[in-house]
Amino acid sequence: MDNKIIEKIQKYKKEVYSPYNNKLYVPMPESRDLFLPVTVGCSYNKCLYCGLNKNIQFKKLPLELIEENLKKLQYINEYSKRKIEKVVLLGGNPFVLKTEYLLEISKLIVKYFKEVKYISSFTRADDILRKTEEELKILKENRYDNLSVGVESGSNTILKLQEKGVTAEENLEAMKMLEKAKINYSAYIMLGFGGKKYSNEKAEETSKLLNLVKPFEIIVVNLVYFPNAPLLELVKNKEFKRLTPLESLKEEYLLLSKLKMENTMFNATHKNNVIAIKGRLPEHKDILLEKIKRKIADYEN
Ligand code: SF4
Repeated sequence: MDNKIIEKIQKYKKEVYSPYNNKLYVPMPESRDLFLPVTVGCSYNKCLYCGLNKNIQFKKLPLELIEENLKKLQYINEYSKRKIEKVVLLGGNPFVLKTEYLLEISKLIVKYFKEVKYISSFTRADDILRKTEEELKILKENRYDNLSVGVESGSNTILKLQEKGVTAEENLEAMKMLEKAKINYSAYIMLGFGGKKYSNEKAEETSKLLNLVKPFEIIVVNLVYFPNAPLLELVKNKEFKRLTPLESLKEEYLLLSKLKMENTMFNATHKNNVIAIKGRLPEHKDILLEKIKRKIADYEN
């Protein structure tokens, strides 16, 4: 490829993703798709464990800039010759945007990438609950699908402790609304979210919640300790005790053993998990449990 073209592609990439300081945080199932900046930061930004957007003022990008970025991404893509079928909206919780705005964005996406089958993004439960059933159906018709819901835990005690800003009941209602609108979704669950104190409660209550819903995938990750997360203060003061790898495995085992879900992928392959496991429920449940059990035995011996 001509050097001038390579330079232009690099320049465009830098410009498009500059608001994120080269740190793109995207849903795991969508990690190889086209990423489109639409928001910067998180409109909520109060979760204790999260340091991703702490010093960033939330803003939605103007449609003109979104279109400009789409043109640049289209140029970049012409040379990589990738068929773009999935687009991920960037930002902490882009689904917070009003339905009308999301529809304007989807129109623009389709204008530049006609083959797009779906548009995905991270979402909080309250972002979903602020939309009506009718709005969600319209969003689905306009290719919004495979959203990633940050559920984290089914225990209200822990959600409150981590200042998640939504309850287990709201998470349940939001996921049910997506189901009614036929919008597929994955559910993020964090191991160690309640620390040592609430480890069992975490597994018990989360499995109860998950058994009531139908995500296409549960993404199980270990609690990440971001450098500037307010939770670190509690860790320092010993008010929040982190799980050891062995305790995390035990929590994962308890959680999985209680799951009675149908046709869902259990995906715990994130690099921060003690053991990378993935399998379909219920078919692979026993195999996955056995793998965790063996790892527990390794740690105990
Ligand atoms: S975890 Fe998600 S919802 Fe909570 S502050 Fe971070 S980006 Fe916002």
